[in-house]
Amino acid sequence: MELTVPDFVLAVLLCSGCAVLAMASVSRWLHAREEARAAGDRLVCRLCLHAFVDEGRLPRGRVIDCPVCGTANEKGG
Ligand SMILES: [Zn+2]
Repeated sequence: MELTVPDFVLAVLLCSGCAVLAMASVSRWLHAREEARAAGDRLVCRLCLHAFVDEGRLPRGRVIDCPVCGTANEKGG
């Protein structure tokens, strides 16, 4: 079978479309994973409602002191 120019162009277009879809899917997955991880490190103080980020990336359930009032807050609780 001989490859014609229209077949070649169609194959290139299909491969390009598949590559774009694959890269978009991977990009969305990485972004969603990073967002979920960043949201897990955000805390709101239960006493003064100060919002802060746990820079130490401690696991859930650990107690973290509020940088403003010093109240102990449980991460993920
Ligand atoms: Zn506080």
